[in-house]
Amino acid sequence: MQVSGKVLPTRRVKISRGEIHIIEERCKQCRLCIELCPKEVLKESERVNKKGYHLPEVVEDLAKEKICVACGFCEIACPEYSIWVEEKKEEASRERDLWGK
Ligand code: SF4
Ligand code: SF4
Repeated sequence: MQVSGKVLPTRRVKISRGEIHIIEERCKQCRLCIELCPKEVLKESERVNKKGYHLPEVVEDLAKEKICVACGFCEIACPEYSIWVEEKKEEASRERDLWGK
């Protein structure tokens, strides 16, 4: 069976442990992802979508150990399903090795 549907463009942002994906046109600037990010790496950016909503952006600061840990809280929090995280497999397995799992 063939499924048809419009594929919305996705912005991909490289992070230390993978990529954050944002479907910009879905964002309503509710800021839930920003408020709930435990590492405080999501900020409201100057960038706006077609509806005029300011989009979240990832701002990592390695010196202050402020990095996205790919926890997925932003993904769970977003009521519009517009943001998700894709963890780099090699990083995840390297960390599991380090912790002996
Ligand atoms: S995956 Fe976690 S640490 Fe990374 S931006 Fe989302 S909430 Fe923040
Ligand atoms: S939670 Fe979703 S809709 Fe709300 S600001 Fe973040 S990306 Fe946009």
